[in-house]
Amino acid sequence: MLSTTPDISHLTQKSVMILDDDVFLIDLIGDMLRGYGMSDIRALSDGRQALISLHERHPDILLCDLNMPNLDGVEFIRQLGEHGFKGEIVVMSSASITVLRAVERLAKAQGHNCISVLPKPFNTRTLAQALARNETPYTPETSQEAVIEPITLQELRDGIDTGCVTLVYQPKVPTKGRQVMDVECLSRWRHAKRGILPPAAFIALAEDNKLITEMTMVILRQAAAQLLLWNQAGCNIRVAVNISMDSMHRLDLPDLFDSIVRAEGVKPTQFVLEITESRLTSDLTMTLDILTRLRIKGFDLAIDDFGTGYSTLENLRQLPFSELKLDQSFVSCANSDRTKRAILESSVRLGKALRLNLVAEGVETIEEWELICAMGCHEVQGFFVARPMPPEELLNWIIKWEKGEQYETT
Ligand code: C2E
Ligand code: CA
Ligand code: CA
Repeated sequence: MLSTTPDISHLTQKSVMILDDDVFLIDLIGDMLRGYGMSDIRALSDGRQALISLHERHPDILLCDLNMPNLDGVEFIRQLGEHGFKGEIVVMSSASITVLRAVERLAKAQGHNCISVLPKPFNTRTLAQALARNETPYTPETSQEAVIEPITLQELRDGIDTGCVTLVYQPKVPTKGRQVMDVECLSRWRHAKRGILPPAAFIALAEDNKLITEMTMVILRQAAAQLLLWNQAGCNIRVAVNISMDSMHRLDLPDLFDSIVRAEGVKPTQFVLEITESRLTSDLTMTLDILTRLRIKGFDLAIDDFGTGYSTLENLRQLPFSELKLDQSFVSCANSDRTKRAILESSVRLGKALRLNLVAEGVETIEEWELICAMGCHEVQGFFVARPMPPEELLNWIIKWEKGEQYETT
């Protein structure tokens, strides 16, 4: 892959701004771009001047150096937002790739379309590769950055109790053996005009409007009713349900959840409640109270998206979790990214030391599967194994998986 020069002929009509204090490099990059047929090229060596020039016209693509005398690249990118810049950014620097990646994350967090980073020195081919990143077609199913228009508050209020919330289920499979023990339920919104919508369209809205606990109860009831049907068909799996941290102020939650699942004819021990790590808040006393009583009632507890929060070790020590889900951002590309791999390895060591069930999320390729197995994770969840599916497909899927008709594990 790396040895070929991508075709960037579709970019010839795009306007480019080069921002670098090295005038020699400006000339060189200009020549490289012209070599690819691009002609609308503006070059500047000072960040402040570049910001002023944006009043005239915004370029489609900005090639931005990080180390500049007046205004460094990070400050410049921050100020770009205030100037309404919506183009694509390629960050260039001779700083280490770790620094480049940090700036890329920062730019993305500020809402910029940072398409790639370009370590210096570079050549014509690596420049083309950096620019070609925007060739990747946008695929909502795999893109974490897809912007989903939320439903309206009225639709949310009207729909929670009237069948708009529906569930799909994604298996978590063991790395040793083939018996499927767990599935996670993921909610979807059945919208009259827009079809099936992902959680991004309604979960945050429900949280912001104090409707999330009510919605979670609907979800838990639905999952419990489904679980009873699977039990009656001879399938004894556990179902994982996502719980928002915003529900962690309801001291009656353990009793509510207990009575919901029992009313449907199943038991709390058949459930894992997943709570996102990045949102475990400072009010640990109340959270500890609720989580401990949920455990006492028999629910298992998982820390979701592990690695994305800050209070990690303290939470792990204090809260009664039984499972740790390694966030997919560390799993994806862990083979090629040393930092991600190091975070994964230390999370796995930590989880093992605390005797937690370790689940790797977002495994998409055979390489990731093999790495995760080699690290000693207990379970895997991800598109490589199965996409989330409607409940009526699950039993057949499990039969096939257990027979080894899907991917053969060793
Ligand atoms: P999550 O709990 O981390 O769930 C995993 C998400 O990753 C799901 O997205 C799933 O479809 C997706 N996924 C699974 N395997 C792969 C993979 O291999 N590659 C990629 N790229 N993605 C994969 P989904 O269903 O859109 O859910 C997003 C988030 O919304 C969930 O993240 C969870 O935090 C939240 N959520 C979903 N359902 C509920 C719910 O019922 N209640 C609450 N409070 N939150 C929910
Ligand atoms: Ca989850
Ligand atoms: Ca997760």
